Amino acid sequence: TFVVGEQCIKCKHTDCVEVCPVDCFYEGPNFLVIHPDECIDCALCEPECPVDAIFSEDELPEDQQVFLELNAELAEVWPNITEMKESPADAAEWEGKPNKLELLER
Ligand code: SF4
Repeated sequence: TFVVGEQCIKCKHTDCVEVCPVDCFYEGPNFLVIHPDECIDCALCEPECPVDAIFSEDELPEDQQVFLELNAELAEVWPNITEMKESPADAAEWEGKPNKLELLER
C-alpha cells in the first residue's frame, strides 16, 4: 500500500486524490490518508504530491512508521475525497516543517 506521511499535515494539497483510480483517499481537517485495503499500489499519486508526503509502504521513513497505523485508522472514520480542492491558505508556510504530527487534527 501507499501511505500519506507527516508532510501532508497542514499542507493538504489534494492533487493526489484526482489521480487515484480506486478513490481511496480520505480527508480529515488538516491531513489526508489512504485506505490500505483499497489502495492497488498503482503509484500514480506519489509524484502528484507537491510536498512529497506520499510513500510506498516499503519506502516509508523509519521515523514515520506510525503513519501506517494512522492511515489505516483514520481512513475508516474520515469521509472519502475524490476531487481536488483549494489548499489551506497557509499551506506554503508549513511546507517541509518538522514535528507536524502533534498538529494533526482529527
Ligand atoms: Fe490510489 Fe494508486 Fe495512490 Fe494507491 S497508489 S492511493 S491506488 S493512486
